Amino acid sequence: MGATFVGMPVFPVAARAALGDTQLRHNLAHATGTIRDKRARVVAEVGDWEDLRTAGAAIKDATLADLEHHLVQLEARLTEQGAVVHWARDAEEANRIVAEVAKSHAVDEVVKVKSMVTQEIGLNEALAEEGIAAWETDLAELIVQLGDDLPSHILVPAIHRNRAEIRQIFLDHMAAAGRPAPDGLTDEPAELASAARLHLREKFLGAKMAVSGANFAVAETGTLVVVESEGNGRMCLTLPEVLVSVVGIEKVVPTFADLDVFLRLLPRSSTGERMNPYTSTWSGVTPGDGPQEVHVVLLDNGRTRALADEVGRQALRCIRCSACLNVCPVYERVGGHAYGSVYPGPIGAILNPLMRGVGEDPQVDSLPYASSLCGACYEVCPVKIDIPSVLVDLRAQVVDAHRGGKPKLEAVAMKGAASTFGSSKRLRFAERFARFGTGLARRLPVASAWTGARDLPKGPVESFRAWWQRTDGGKNDG
Ligand code: SF4
Repeated sequence: MGATFVGMPVFPVAARAALGDTQLRHNLAHATGTIRDKRARVVAEVGDWEDLRTAGAAIKDATLADLEHHLVQLEARLTEQGAVVHWARDAEEANRIVAEVAKSHAVDEVVKVKSMVTQEIGLNEALAEEGIAAWETDLAELIVQLGDDLPSHILVPAIHRNRAEIRQIFLDHMAAAGRPAPDGLTDEPAELASAARLHLREKFLGAKMAVSGANFAVAETGTLVVVESEGNGRMCLTLPEVLVSVVGIEKVVPTFADLDVFLRLLPRSSTGERMNPYTSTWSGVTPGDGPQEVHVVLLDNGRTRALADEVGRQALRCIRCSACLNVCPVYERVGGHAYGSVYPGPIGAILNPLMRGVGEDPQVDSLPYASSLCGACYEVCPVKIDIPSVLVDLRAQVVDAHRGGKPKLEAVAMKGAASTFGSSKRLRFAERFARFGTGLARRLPVASAWTGARDLPKGPVESFRAWWQRTDGGKNDG
C-alpha cells in the first residue's frame, strides 16, 4: 500500500526498462486496442460530435477565464446546503484536512471512490501515517492497492495486469485486507469480479466515512457529480455517515445545463459507452438521506500555476477521459509507469510540468519529450486540448530553464538585426560587409547548428541600395 512515484527515473530510462517487458506490452496493446475500437464505434454514432467537442472546450475556457467567480459561487451554494467547504493550497493542506475530519470521528478506516486527485496528493499514504487505512473500492484500484502496485492508466489503473496476475494478487493479498479470496478461485472474469464484490461489500457496510473526488462541480446549484461504472461509487457516496470530497478547482462548471455536454462527451471518450451506468449527484446534506456530514476540499496544488501559462492553461479543460492515452503510440509501448506520475500518457506529459513547473526536477523536465508529436491525442480529445502545441511550448520552457540565465544566441542575433534595420546608416554599413561577414560566418564552428540543415547564402557583391545609387535608379546601368 505504500508504493509511490517518488524517485522515478527520467522518462527515457524508465521507458527503456518498460520496453523490455514483453508481457506488459502485450497487455497494453490488447487493452488499449479494445477501448480504442469501442470509442471509435460509439463516437461515430453521434452526428454532432465535433460541435459537442467545440462546446465542451468553450464552456471550460469561459469558466477558467472567470474561475474565481464560479468557485466563490460554488462555495456559497454548497455552504447554504449544509456542506463544509475547505480550501487547500497544496497536497499537504488537503491531506491534513481529510485526516482531521477522520480523526474527529475516531475513524481508523475509510472507503474511497476512484479519484485521480486523491492519488495526486498521496492521500492514502498520508492517512496511513495517521493510522487510518484508506480502502480503494474501484475494482482496478483494488487490484493496484492489493498488489502494492502503481496505477498506470487514468481509467484502468491495472491495465498492465492480465487476469492470471489478478487472480494471484487476490489469492496472495486479499486476506490481509479483509475477506479472503474464495477457495478454488479461477481467472474467469466473473469469478474475479465476484471475489472483489464480496470483499468490498464488507468494507462498504462497515465504513463510517468515505472519500471521493468529483468529475464535475456545478457552481449555480452547488452540486458535485461522480460518474462510474461499477456502483462502488454510489455505495461510498450514500452508505457512510461522513463524506469528504477532494475536488480540483478546475472541475467547476457554471450551470447544470453545462453537464449535458460533458455527460455526453465523457462516457463515449472514456469507456466507449453511450452513457455512464452510474451518475451520482449530491448538493450538500439531505436530512435522513445519505451522509449527514459533507466536506468539500477545493484544491489548487499547481492548478493556478498552470492557469497562468497562456499556452498550457488549456490542459485544465481535461475531463480525465483517457482517450489520449489509448491512441498514443508512445503510451501503448511503454505503459503508464514510465511517466512517473498518476497522470500518464499525453495529458500527463503536459499536466505534470504545468502544475509542478519546469527546471527543478529532471524527471518532470523529461516528460514534454515523451511524444512523437503525431497529433493523435489532439484528434480524440473531447475538449480539444491541443496537446502537441503545448508539448512544443513546454520543450522551449525546459530549454530556457536550463540556459542558466545566458541569453539565447538567436535572441541576440534578432536584437542585432532589429538595431541594424532601425537605422539606414547602420544598414548601409552592414550591407557593405555582408559578403565578407557571411563568408566568415560559414566557416565558424558555431554556425554549424544552422548550416547543418539549412543554407547560409553568400552575400551579394553589391547591395540593391548601392546599385540604385551608383546607377541612378538603373538609368546608367551597363
Ligand atoms: S487530455 Fe483530452 S483526451 Fe486526454 S484525458 Fe484529458 S480530456 Fe481526455
